[in-house]
This record gives sequence, C-alpha cells and structure tokens, in this order.
Amino acid sequence: MIVMKFGGTSVGSAERLTSVLEIVKATKEKDGAPIVVLSAMSGVTDMLINAANAAKERDLDAALDILDKIHEKHKDCIYTLFQQASVVDELVEQLESHLNKLDIILRGVSYLGELTKRSLDAISCFGELLSSLIFAALLEKEGVESSWVDARTFLVTDNVFGKASPLWETTTAKAQGTILPELADERVVVTQGFIGSTASGITTTLGRGGSDYSAAILGVACEADEIQIWTDVDGMMTADPRIVPEAQVLQTVSFKAASELAYFGAKVLHPLTIKPAVEKNIPVRILNTLRPESKGTVIEEASDEQPLYAIASKKNISALFFNSLNMLMSHGFLAKVFSVFDKYRTPIDLIATSEVSVSVTIDNKDNIESILESLHELCDVRVQHDVAIVTVVGTHFRAQSGIAGQVFAALKDINIVMISGGASDITLSFVVANQDADKAVKQLHNALFATASAK
Ligand code: ADP
Ligand code: ASP
Ligand code: MG
Repeated sequence: MIVMKFGGTSVGSAERLTSVLEIVKATKEKDGAPIVVLSAMSGVTDMLINAANAAKERDLDAALDILDKIHEKHKDCIYTLFQQASVVDELVEQLESHLNKLDIILRGVSYLGELTKRSLDAISCFGELLSSLIFAALLEKEGVESSWVDARTFLVTDNVFGKASPLWETTTAKAQGTILPELADERVVVTQGFIGSTASGITTTLGRGGSDYSAAILGVACEADEIQIWTDVDGMMTADPRIVPEAQVLQTVSFKAASELAYFGAKVLHPLTIKPAVEKNIPVRILNTLRPESKGTVIEEASDEQPLYAIASKKNISALFFNSLNMLMSHGFLAKVFSVFDKYRTPIDLIATSEVSVSVTIDNKDNIESILESLHELCDVRVQHDVAIVTVVGTHFRAQSGIAGQVFAALKDINIVMISGGASDITLSFVVANQDADKAVKQLHNALFATASAK
C-alpha cells in the first residue's frame, strides 16, 4: 500500500486537483487503493494565519475579509470541478458550514484580543479540511470509491500546539482501525495532512510544512510499502531550484543525507518526515505532480556512495556568541550554558567552541529574551539576528581531501560569521548574513557541482 501526499501547489487549483485525480486513479489501478494525504490549497494556510493575527489585533474587518477570500477561492474551485447542481449545493453547504465555525472563532479571538497557540491551531486546520473535502467529492464524481476521514479521529498528538508530536501507540491503533478496513474494501482513503488532535479531542497541528510528516506517520502506522511526497519539483535537488535554476535532481539519497538536507532548509521535505520512515525502513519517494512521468528521488537506506549531495540554506536564524574568561581551563561551563537552552526547550542547530568562547545558532526564538537573561549571569553574550545557515551535505567528508579548499575558495568574497563541521561526516555548515545566503549557495553550487560533474 502506498501513502501519497500532495502539497499545496499540487492541490492549488481545479486544474491541479484534476491532475491529482489522474495520479491517484493510476496508483489505485496498479498498486491498490492508496491513502491520500492532502495539504491546504496553496496560500490558504498563510491566509488563515493572517486572519488569526488580524483578529488578534482586533481588526475583525480585515480578518473577515480574508475569510471571504478563502470562501471565494474554494467556491470557484467547486464551480469549476462540478456541474451537477445537487453536488455543488452540497459541497458549498459543507464549505460554508466550516467557514461559519471559523467565523465564530475569529470573532472570539478579536473580542478577546488574544491568540493562543491552541486557538491558532483551531484556525489553521481549516485549509486541509476544505481541500480534502473537495478532492473526496471529485473522486466520487469520477466513480472512484473513496472515504473522507478526518485526521483528527486517528492522528492523536500531545498538546504542544503549533508543533505537536504523535502519540504513536494510540495513533497506530486508531489509524489501523479506521483506515485499513477501507483500504481492504478497495476504497481510497482521503485525509488531511498537518492536523491532529489531543487525546481529549482538541485540534492540534504538526507545524508548518507538516503534511509531509503526517504522510510519514500514516505510512508507519499503516505499514505502507512506500511514502510518496508529490510536490512542484522533480525531486530532491542539488540545491533549491528557486535559488539555483541549474540544480540537478538526485535519483537516490540516503535517509541520513535527506534528514540533514531537510533539517538545514531543503523545504521540499519537512525535517521530521524521515525519522519514522527510517525506523520502519520505508522508502520515501519525492515526485512532481506536474510531471508524473519523471522518476523523482528515492530516499532509502544508503545504497550509493555519492560524494556530494546538495546545498541547503535556512534563513532568519540567530547566532549567539558567549565569551567567558572563567571558562579558561575550567569545566562545567558548557553544561551550564546548555542547561539554559534545555530549560527553555530551545534546540541548538550549530555549535562551535574555543577555549574561552562558544557560538551557537538557534532557529526558535520564542524564548530568546529569557535565554539571554539567564546567560548574562554566566558570561558575556552577543547576539546576531538575521543570519542564515548554509550547509553542504555529502558523504565521507573526512576521507576526502580538497573539499574544504573548494568550499572556502567558493566563499572567498563572503563574510563567514561561524563555521561548523566535522560533527557528522556528511555536513559542513556556515553561518552568513541573510542577504549573503543565496549568493553563497549559488557560488558553492557552481564550484562543487561543476567540479563533481567534470570528474
Ligand atoms: P509542497 O507545497 O508540495 O509541500 P514546498 O513548497 O513545501 O511544497 O516544497 C517544495 C519546494 O521546495 C520547491 O518548490 C523548492 O523551491 C523547494 N526546495 C528547497 N530546497 C530544495 C531541494 N534541495 N530540492 C528540491 N526542492 C527544494
Ligand atoms: N498547509 C500547511 C502549511 O502550509 C501544511 C503543509 O502544507 O504541509 O504549512
Ligand atoms: Mg511542504
């Protein structure tokens, strides 16, 4: 059985949904009924978040204006896809029933002038609910037997709103109980990415881009043969094609390299997607909805020994530099520094140390003020916001001579704020100013891949 996840652009219009329909039909014929996990139509999650923020600022008119646009977008799509009046009426009624709930929530947020992470999840879940309703109706219209399942009935999570994690045991039992009988009946299961619910039924989300993660969770829970991530590019590439148009598609990528790439900014895959797939050794395939015939990228247990995979970048990071003369020849300093990050549940992405200084980068800035306050008691701290991490991902860096030389030569005209490498044999990361990140990626790509292909 295959789990197929379609991202925002893949479901972003009536035309795209029709392409998805053809892809799903072909899979059903060839491999049996799949589980189809859908994102919100492109732009809709952003619109929902903007509406929530407008409501929080007590600008209810702006929030309701966005709601109208969401209504129009989905209604247009329904009118383009369906002609039969009874079907259109029923779908529009369902759409409006969801949007009425959203209207009530937005009014509540605006009345209170308060937006908790829990309320934001209650608002941002609607995009996936709407896109999946429309797609399930499209399957029905085409005579493809299917069942629409609300992901909140099986994807049970903790209550970390905005970045929830699955409770695996419950989710596996519920997903198997709800979904497997439908598949056995040859019915395609249509569900939503990104959303789940706590054990007591409160809506949660898995974080931005989290539909990929939902697909992996379902793949593992229902023991899929393959998890397919259908998107708007031909696969995982040697760089973001929006930054490097000549980037090449990678045919195979190891689980390890794909995790590093996703973690360090290759948006094509949510960073948490790979972990469950690795545990059950389920291949993840990245495919292009616009060109279903292209082979895509397979991410699986390392089979190849590709020396260089790709370059990724992640902007809007903060770098923190600590300096303490007390650290000279002393022990325990790093433990104290790390305990502060631990206390504020803030992961450190990169780290570099010398005898008297430590530099780290963090992506999650929610608790930065409290972190800085605690650290000031231990040492001098300097912060640099708006920096980017640029990472080269490959294999066996330690066993190759010349990589560092090529990398540094490529970055010779760029100011490097921090360097971190060697912790893993497959990554070399730099911190540069946000505005230098794209240039760094382009120059690195030019230097490393021109050389790689010339070999
Ligand atoms: P979806 O809506 O389908 O989830 P995303 O926008 O989240 O799609 O991810 C696809 C985008 O990821 C691509 O359009 C591309 O610009 C970007 N991207 C960043 N790095 C890479 C990479 N290494 N390979 C492919 N795409 C990448
Ligand atoms: N719709 C959600 C987002 O835009 C989840 C996803 O598309 O993966 O973040
Ligand atoms: Mg995505």
